[in-house]
Amino acid sequence: GGVALAVSMAACSGDGAGGGGDTGGKQPGDLTIGVSMPTQTSERWIADGNSVKEKLSAKGYKVDLQYAGDDIPTQSQQIDQMITQGADVLIVAAIDGTALSGQLQAAADAKIPVIAYDRLVRNSPNVDFYVSFDNYKVGVAQANALLVGLGLQTKDGAKGNASGPFTVELFAGSLDDNNAHFFYSGAMDTLKPFIDAGTLKVKSGQTKIEQIAILRWQQEAAQRRMEDLLTSSYADGSKVDGVLSPYDGISRGIITALQNAGYGAAAKPMPVVTGQDAEIASVKLINDGVQGSTVFKDTRLLAEQAVAAAEAFLQEKKPEANDTTTYDNGVKVVPSYLLPVQTVYKDDIKPVLVDSGYWTAEEVAAGQ
Ligand code: BGC
Repeated sequence: GGVALAVSMAACSGDGAGGGGDTGGKQPGDLTIGVSMPTQTSERWIADGNSVKEKLSAKGYKVDLQYAGDDIPTQSQQIDQMITQGADVLIVAAIDGTALSGQLQAAADAKIPVIAYDRLVRNSPNVDFYVSFDNYKVGVAQANALLVGLGLQTKDGAKGNASGPFTVELFAGSLDDNNAHFFYSGAMDTLKPFIDAGTLKVKSGQTKIEQIAILRWQQEAAQRRMEDLLTSSYADGSKVDGVLSPYDGISRGIITALQNAGYGAAAKPMPVVTGQDAEIASVKLINDGVQGSTVFKDTRLLAEQAVAAAEAFLQEKKPEANDTTTYDNGVKVVPSYLLPVQTVYKDDIKPVLVDSGYWTAEEVAAGQ
């Protein structure tokens, strides 16, 4: 820091280049934001990390961006290190939402504000803000996409032409990720009336989140579970009509298992498979008519909110919340800024993903 810098800060106030007036006269270049991301195996987190870093760097801040390889001790160590190296704000997307209370206590002791990024950190009083999407609505959107794909519902929510009954299987995300529970409740609240009426039949009988969860959202684990389901519940020649999947990587594991079992041929059409994140490999599958849909969450907008929240804390202001009731982390309700989500079917790829510059038409065609 520096006393002399206070003078130059006055000169640049109002130019949008960051605050600093309330951070002991520090300029953005004196401030470091630690950004802890879970994994690079899913491209959304790479996009998230890059967007946050670019936006903070453009404002002159120093950024310490770390990925933890989906390993909980690694993430804890990385955050410990950010704290000892004097980070001024932390932005954290947790691997296990319940495993970071020690780190967050250390951050609080060092007066470092903590922003939970996309995934809420649970069981800690030291989460100062949460930026995410409307996670319950993600689940609702996935369930609706399943109903639309089966013809039970139209895109605008009216009754569809099909009457069923249809055979479906359900998948959920990682139990240690708070979001997985929101996706599941949104989806199940939407599907339950159809299950109760017998219009949707879950042939395996597995509908509880503990039965259908995929640890760490792993594609391979999803493929194995789908293979097991086909062996245990469909060896009698019956067919699966739809699969609720919470995330594109899981969707691709499911699709591989189905293709290996002969689905996708004329006599055995590919079931309706949902997804999330608009990962490029899945966008191509949607374009090719293999995967039914995905839920697009614009990580560029989320990064913007994270940066805005970080700057507010650096200026000793409160970030702007648009939800102060939903996200109870077990200790407190964390003020949140939630962004909307959008379902993407084949027809939406161009207007939603290509025209907004999220993916190019070439990337969609190539799947990478
Ligand atoms: C995110 C999803 C993502 C999943 C797997 C969740 O916490 O909200 O966007 O698909 O993690 O990475």
